[in-house]
Amino acid sequence: MTPLITVEKLRREYPSGEGTIAVLKDIDLTIEKGEMVAIVGSSGSGKSTLMNILGLLDRPTSGTYCISGQETSTLDNDERSALRREHFGFIFQRYHLLAELSALGNVEIPAVYAGRARAPRRERAAALLGRLGMAERTEHLPGQLSGGQQQRVSIARALMNDAEVILADEPTGALDKVSGDEVLRILDELHAEGRTIIIVTHDPGVAARAERIIEISDGRIVSDRHSQKDATEVAVPATPRAQSPSQIGARVDRFREAFLMAIKALRAHRMRSFLTMLGIIIGIASVISVVALGTGSQQKVLANISSLGTNTLEIFPGTGFGDVRAARVKTLVVSDADALSQLSYVDAVTPTVSTAETVRFGAVEANALVNGVGSEYFVVKGSSLVKGRLFNADSVSSISQDAVIDENAAKALFGDSGLDPIGQVIMVGSVPCRVIGVISSQQGGFGSSDNLSIFLPYTSVQARFIGDMSLRSVTVRVDDSVDTAVAEQAVTEFLTRRHGTRDFFVLNTDDIRQTITSTTQALTLLVSAIAVISLVVGGIGVMNIMLVSVSERVSEIGVRMAVGARRHDILQQFLIEAVLVCLIGGVVGIAVALAFGLAFNAAGTSFTLVFSMTPMLMAFVCSCFIGIVFGYLPARNASRLDPVAALS
Ligand code: ADP
Ligand code: MG
Repeated sequence: MTPLITVEKLRREYPSGEGTIAVLKDIDLTIEKGEMVAIVGSSGSGKSTLMNILGLLDRPTSGTYCISGQETSTLDNDERSALRREHFGFIFQRYHLLAELSALGNVEIPAVYAGRARAPRRERAAALLGRLGMAERTEHLPGQLSGGQQQRVSIARALMNDAEVILADEPTGALDKVSGDEVLRILDELHAEGRTIIIVTHDPGVAARAERIIEISDGRIVSDRHSQKDATEVAVPATPRAQSPSQIGARVDRFREAFLMAIKALRAHRMRSFLTMLGIIIGIASVISVVALGTGSQQKVLANISSLGTNTLEIFPGTGFGDVRAARVKTLVVSDADALSQLSYVDAVTPTVSTAETVRFGAVEANALVNGVGSEYFVVKGSSLVKGRLFNADSVSSISQDAVIDENAAKALFGDSGLDPIGQVIMVGSVPCRVIGVISSQQGGFGSSDNLSIFLPYTSVQARFIGDMSLRSVTVRVDDSVDTAVAEQAVTEFLTRRHGTRDFFVLNTDDIRQTITSTTQALTLLVSAIAVISLVVGGIGVMNIMLVSVSERVSEIGVRMAVGARRHDILQQFLIEAVLVCLIGGVVGIAVALAFGLAFNAAGTSFTLVFSMTPMLMAFVCSCFIGIVFGYLPARNASRLDPVAALS
């Protein structure tokens, strides 16, 4: 029958200065199934090193190590962790329990990595704890248990996957006499069941309980003696193993455990997690708010432009806005407007002149913009009548003093007295005018929406206020069937021919619309780019903290590897943690942006934030992505840790 463990010419060297030092030198050792072996020796003699190699936590420098006849040097990392999971149970001097998990949770871990179903797993863990006298304390955290109790939890953990070999490195080293004896009694019992027990100790009293004592000194076996006890080979009972659930089920289960573990880890360091998230929160919140701000202001401006009317061209004297001589250009006149209105592609034309005057009604006095307009004006601008009526072509030709005022003016002049404005006579400058209608105030547009506006026939304004026939502008509404750009071209040529020179300029509302759209888009893009940079900075923060977290939790990683975690499991756990930080940060960031939007809109500014789904989804995906990208390096570092180095 092949021995359980065969070691030949085993050597383990550590690099030291220039060369190496050998800690284990040519160890030959055979251990049969069911033996209870004590490895003794003074401190530093190499006991733990040997134990770690036997437990597949460490690799020998040279020599062979076979388990049940299988050579182990050719196994890859995952095969080694599978062997650890199935065959070995570790008991450490310092228990090495995971502080965030309950006793039951700790005992369960090996079965999680082995892919056993949850219900039988919990049942078995509870049964094992019960058997070790811990039935009352399954939900206690390690910090709430005494040393002896913690060691019993770690024994239960070692038995979870029904390990046939128990490796115990100084299991009583940190315990008082009574607890230590209790642990040894349990080990005796396990041995009696047929398990192979290998126990490392420097205490001769402990060693005496074993049937075989191997003494190591300076890396060599100096004696290997069997005590009086009979080394009877006990038939190992076939232990029933819980049915493994399906491959996918096991993966999902491992993912779920890793997820819960990540949440526990985040909860254990609330403040730190929050500060890490802060970068992501600020980044996401600013991206979303900026996009909403851009959308909101753009919609507002576009709505203002729509109030200029669609398909309209505005013709102004001069060479462009800001032309100082524009006021002296008197060539844009009513006959131009009349000529334009004859063109086939022109739907309607309204000339505009304007002047600022003081208006008075009774004792109320205010400054107002007096617009001289044609009767088509209200149609072209899409103004809505609130009260009364508008003036018509007759009013224009009869130079009437009928005034249409906007709501702002109505409020300013008649608000206090509560009189109906219709039919009242107001003084515009020194000209008495009768109010015939009230229209809604223009939404902002290119003037402030707080302006008081008074509309009179342009003929009246020219005759009674300005005293000449020139116009401030001519608004042309192009026929719907004609392209505005083509019409603009034609109107420009037409007027240039009429004037003999180009002393005017044409504004096309479509052009303005496009310019504004592309300007706000460019601005949004720019500010978003800055926000994205802050997200990247946030991501680097996440990476930084994850690296710290990995180095802080090296021993946890070691324990997980010892109980059979694959590299993939460790990688997954830390990656989940990083992604979770970013995701929570992302969700909080979205919430912050929405809260900001509510506050902003409630503050009653002239425009509102407009949130849409796309940037939020993008933010969500983006934060996941940041978690994966910036969490990968720390997670990979964690998964590549050497189990021995992690445990020491
Ligand atoms: P013990 O018998 O007390 O358990 P160990 O097996 O832990 O002894 O250590 C044996 C020797 O190997 C010690 O001298 C120790 O300094 C050395 N050693 C252990 N681990 C390392 C390491 N990672 N690098 C270098 N030397 C090590
Ligand atoms: Mg040791």
